[in-house]
Amino acid sequence: MTREEARKIIEEKKQELGRGLIILGHHYQSDEVIAYADFVGDSLELARKASQVEEAGHIVFCGVFFMAESAAILAPDKSVYIPDFSAGCPLADMAEPGAVQKAWEVITKDGAGVVPVTYVNSSARIKAFCGRHGGIVCTSGNARQIFEWAFERADRIFFMPDMNLGRNTARQMGIPEEQVVLWDPEKEHGGLGSEELARARLVLWKGWCPVHWPTFTPEDVRMLKEKHPGIDVIVHPESDPQTVDASGRSGSTARILEVVKATPPGGKLAIGTEANLVKRAARENPSLTIVPLREVYCEDMARITLEKLALVLLHLGEDTFRVTVEPDIARDALSALERMLRV
Ligand code: SF4
Repeated sequence: MTREEARKIIEEKKQELGRGLIILGHHYQSDEVIAYADFVGDSLELARKASQVEEAGHIVFCGVFFMAESAAILAPDKSVYIPDFSAGCPLADMAEPGAVQKAWEVITKDGAGVVPVTYVNSSARIKAFCGRHGGIVCTSGNARQIFEWAFERADRIFFMPDMNLGRNTARQMGIPEEQVVLWDPEKEHGGLGSEELARARLVLWKGWCPVHWPTFTPEDVRMLKEKHPGIDVIVHPESDPQTVDASGRSGSTARILEVVKATPPGGKLAIGTEANLVKRAARENPSLTIVPLREVYCEDMARITLEKLALVLLHLGEDTFRVTVEPDIARDALSALERMLRV
């Protein structure tokens, strides 16, 4: 299929189905896909949108698999599709349910109350694990609030899968470093001694997003500030605490876009996140100088193309591209998501 054919199919299907079809586009998607998105946003925002548009029976999620799963969980009465099942997320895949279960058994062995918290960038099975154990989901925008909720219920949090978001949140909350430990699933007993574990208030799963870490570094920030004197820098909190410190500011994609909006004409801003978002922000705000801290793209997000989007639209109503979540997993994952939505 050529690009032109793909465009024609997408336009015809949108015309034919009207509000019955919704195309969701994550901020990290390419411009040509975003051009056909009915809504653009972060993963949770889009999943919620999917459940709110009543007339839409078909939701096509242009993003990665865990996002489409969340949409399917929050909108069980709709059909959710993904244009490429191989668009996974290395971060989400780092928390494998069997390994998480084993860690949980060790972490809770001393009888301490523990609340499991998962970043929304995780599989439905990990969300369900949290749901089953009185736990909760968080986003990069509300992690601190959710940690506070969890600490009202227990002395210890088991947070997965992004260690950098966990560390950045712990620092914001003033949790001493010696009370934050890293569970390495590759090592026996997570690589932790019983004493270390006993004093831990926060146990972090050793996982990371390769787009944000170790990609962005304090050295990148230093070089950029040297090249553009007076430039402001903001990085996503999936970057490490040293890079966040060097930048002086961090925030979720929604927060980054708020900062762009609040920057006065003539302002200069460097953004440390996926380059599709940064370049689009630059194009949409010609009165500002917006540059990527480093030009990095998410390979999995890039698997979604115009041609694949057109192909999904030709198969609506069939199972070929439909994302389904087993009922018991969906039920438990939903309880963890709903706890977050109530906070
Ligand atoms: S940017 Fe990172 S967290 Fe987001 S989908 Fe890509 S690998 Fe996963």
